Amino acid sequence: SFSTLASDFYGYENMLSDREKGVLADLRAYLDSEVKPIVNRHWADATFPHEIVKGLADLGLFGMPWKETQPFENSAVFRGWVALELARVDASVATFVGVQNGLAMGSIGVGGSPEQRAEWLPRMASGEIVGAFGLTEPLSGSDSAQGLRTVATRDGDDWVLNGSKRWIGNATFSDITIIWAKSAEDGQVKGFIVPTSTPGYSATKIEGKQSLRIVQNADITLTDVRIPDSLRLQQATSFRDTAAVLRLTRAEVAWAAVGNSIGAYEAALAYADDRVQFGKPISKHQLIQDLLVKSIGNITASIGMVVRCSQLLDEGTQRDEHASLAKAFTTARMRETVGWAREVLGGNGIVLDYDVARFFADAEALYSYEGTREMNTLIVGRSITGQAAFV
Ligand code: FAD
Repeated sequence: SFSTLASDFYGYENMLSDREKGVLADLRAYLDSEVKPIVNRHWADATFPHEIVKGLADLGLFGMPWKETQPFENSAVFRGWVALELARVDASVATFVGVQNGLAMGSIGVGGSPEQRAEWLPRMASGEIVGAFGLTEPLSGSDSAQGLRTVATRDGDDWVLNGSKRWIGNATFSDITIIWAKSAEDGQVKGFIVPTSTPGYSATKIEGKQSLRIVQNADITLTDVRIPDSLRLQQATSFRDTAAVLRLTRAEVAWAAVGNSIGAYEAALAYADDRVQFGKPISKHQLIQDLLVKSIGNITASIGMVVRCSQLLDEGTQRDEHASLAKAFTTARMRETVGWAREVLGGNGIVLDYDVARFFADAEALYSYEGTREMNTLIVGRSITGQAAFV
C-alpha cells in the first residue's frame, strides 16, 4: 500500500504499522471534519476552539510517550507523524498538542516521581487537566539555561516562587503550569507543578500576535506563590532535565514544520490546478512547476531527516544535536516552502480564506520557538567542532 498522503512522495508512511496508519486515518478524518472548517475564523479572532480538546484527547493524542497514558505502544516516528498531520491542517492546533502532550506532560513524564506521574498524567491524557510550560521569561529567552530570574525559595515544606514568565502557550486557560525556577538554595533550575488557582499567580494574554494566533500565549507573574514540596518535580534537579524535555519536543516541532509546509504546498498545488492564466491552468506553466517541485523536494528531504531523527530516539541514541539539526533544517526549509506556496497563489496568497497566508504567518513562530534557528545551529556547531560558541 502506498502512502495515503500524496505529499509523502517517497511513501515513508509505509514504515508505520497498520494500527498506526489506522490511527492516522482517524486523526485525518477528525481534523478534516472538526478542525479545518473552523481554524481560519479562530485565527482571525485570535481565539482557541476549546471544544476540540476532548476530541483530541479521545484520539489518544495526549500522553503518547508515557506508559501510564499511552493508548497503545507507539514509536517516536509515529508520534512525529501525528505532529505532522496536526500541523498540516493547523500549526496552532499542533502547538496546543505539543504543549499539552510534549512540554507539560513531558515535564512530568521526565521529571516527575512515579507518584506524580500516576497522579497527573492520566488526568491530563483525558483532557480533564490542561497544562502549560513556563520556561521563557521577559529577560531570558535563548539564554534560559543560565539566565532565569524566577526564584524558588525553600520555606519549611513549601517553596515560594517569585518572578515572571513570557510567551507561555495555553497559559490563559491552563489548570496547571510547569514553572521552571532557580533554587535560591543551590542555584539549580527546578520544575514545579503550579495549579493556576494558587494565590499570587496571574496570567495575561499576549495580544496582537500575527503568527499562531489560535495559540493563547500569556505573560505570567508569580508573586509569593506558595507551592508544597510535593509539587516540585522530584526527579528534575538541574537544567539538564529541562533540556531533556526540550529535546523530545524539539524533534516534534521539526515534524510540525514539515506538516506546515505540506499544508501550504497542498493548497498551492490545488490552486495551480484551478487557476487559469494565459489560457491554461497555471500548473502548466514551467515556472509554477519549478516552485512546486522545489517544495516537494524540501518536504521529501525534511521527512527523511525527521524520520531518521525519531528512529534515533526509538533506538535510544538520539542526542540534543540530532533534534537541533532537524529543527533548524526543517524550519528553514519550511520558510522557503510557504513562501513559494504564497507565490503560486499570487494575490490570493495573502488572503486568509485561501489558507496559505495562515501557513505562511504561522511558520514564523515555529521557526523561533523551542530554540531559534540560531540556537539550534549553535548546538549542532558545538557538537561538530567541539567548541561552544554560546556560553
Ligand atoms: P531572544 O533570545 O531574545 O533572541 C533574539 C534573537 O537573538 C534571535 O534571533 C536569537 O536566535 C538571537 N540570539 C540570541 N542569542 C544568540 C547567540 N548566542 N548567538 C546568536 N544569536 C543569538 N516559551 C515557553 O517557555 N513556553 C511556551 O509555551 C512558549 N511558547 C511560545 C510560543 C510562541 C508563539 C512563541 C513566539 C514563543 C514561545 N515561547 C515559549 C518562547 C520561545 O521559546 C522563545 O521565543 C525563544 O526561545 C526565543 O527567545 P526570545 O524570543 O526571548 O528571543
